[in-house]
Amino acid sequence: MQQRMLIREVPSQIGKEVFLKGWVSVRRDHGKLVFLDVRDRSGSVQVVVLPNHLDSCAAVHEVRNETIVSLVGRVNERPANAKKEGELTGGVEIEALELTILAKGEEDLPIDVSSSDLDVNLDTLLNNRTVSLRHPKIQAIFKLYSLLLAGYDQACRKEEFVEIKTPKILSSATEGGANFFKIKYFDREAYLAQSPQFYKQAGATVFERVFEIGSVFRAEPHFTSRHVNEYVGLDGEMAFIEGVEDVMAMLEKIMFSTFSFFALEGEIELNRYAGHLPPQVAIPRIRLSEALRLLKEEYGKEVENEDIDGEGERMISEYVSKKYGSDFVFLTHYPAALRPFYSMPSADGKYTETFDLLFRGVEIASGGQRIHEYRMLVDSIRRKGLDPEQFRDYLDVFRYGAPAHGGWGLGSERIIQKLLGLGSIKEALLYPRDVKRLTP
Ligand code: ATP
Ligand code: MG
Repeated sequence: MQQRMLIREVPSQIGKEVFLKGWVSVRRDHGKLVFLDVRDRSGSVQVVVLPNHLDSCAAVHEVRNETIVSLVGRVNERPANAKKEGELTGGVEIEALELTILAKGEEDLPIDVSSSDLDVNLDTLLNNRTVSLRHPKIQAIFKLYSLLLAGYDQACRKEEFVEIKTPKILSSATEGGANFFKIKYFDREAYLAQSPQFYKQAGATVFERVFEIGSVFRAEPHFTSRHVNEYVGLDGEMAFIEGVEDVMAMLEKIMFSTFSFFALEGEIELNRYAGHLPPQVAIPRIRLSEALRLLKEEYGKEVENEDIDGEGERMISEYVSKKYGSDFVFLTHYPAALRPFYSMPSADGKYTETFDLLFRGVEIASGGQRIHEYRMLVDSIRRKGLDPEQFRDYLDVFRYGAPAHGGWGLGSERIIQKLLGLGSIKEALLYPRDVKRLTP
């Protein structure tokens, strides 16, 4: 039995016989010739079945788009002008000698995945996920997503962050939030975690630096292009900081290091989307109040409650991109009223030592310095109208002393959405969950 070879190795095998397995992306008939574009995880190559090999390749009669095959073939050089630009294997063609069908569909495909661009609407794309994922351009999203996870992991470890996994089933809906999913837990009620906040803070007070890549559940009835009800958060938390500036500096370092990882390994996938990497220039830090003033001055935009909305975030990103050449911007010092009780207040008491990180017009992270003094924390809980008794376990982290610390929560799917310019965040999830969608 011959050893299977990956398609990316084929160009180095001119004149030799190879054994391949993969999917037939497209079947094309030209008179007596049958052309098959065959793909595997490493790439795609053109295969031709000539009339004189039809006996040993009789199975080709049954081959349709997306039939799964194995084949033995001879690698031939193609004329230079046949080479398609950007195609690794464009310089070669395989003359099939034997062809076997490994698996074929029970039915016709619900969507055509043979064209270079998959032209279907979002619902169709998601309803037929197992088929749409076969499209190389869709796969590219998830190859980059995989690189994001690896890149973030590597970047955090390089800075001596310890990876932790915190529980996603909680006994109470903390942070006073209404956005928790309630679940049945044996004979009790429980809630799905809408952030690893408390546990990662506990982690930072023990390990100094922790990071987590984990599921986040949000029971928010959003109908936007940037919200889903289950996403994967990239969290980080670090102790012995001097202030929130240290947290932003670390997040910037980790982001840039993560994006460099795309440059090393994700070039082919990025090119499929004309996705360009953000320039690594120092990320501007602008106070929220200053950003709101700019919005009014530059765009005539009025704001309410000292808060910035989605449109404002887009405008500020545009402004920063023009003025500083940065695709990122930190907005800092949000009013205390807009931030959770654990946010460290600024000296003036009105603002907080917090930030949002925007990337190409959308918030991708929130973060800040946390309150680490027990008494201050209890007071802050009360000031938000909450009962400290409800936060007993969390308060234990501070009852016995905790170092100054802070951190961030990043949305992984939004990073990929903005990196590739995807219309909806849902395209960056294999099987997204939204208000209407629980399947597939
Ligand atoms: P937004 O204001 O955009 O709704 P948020 O401020 O409520 O987000 P955070 O609690 O700050 O969200 O969560 C940290 C990060 O997690 C966000 O910056 C975002 O990247 C991501 N995120 C939050 N909610 C969602 C969601 N529903 N779907 C996808 N990603 C999300
Ligand atoms: Mg936020």
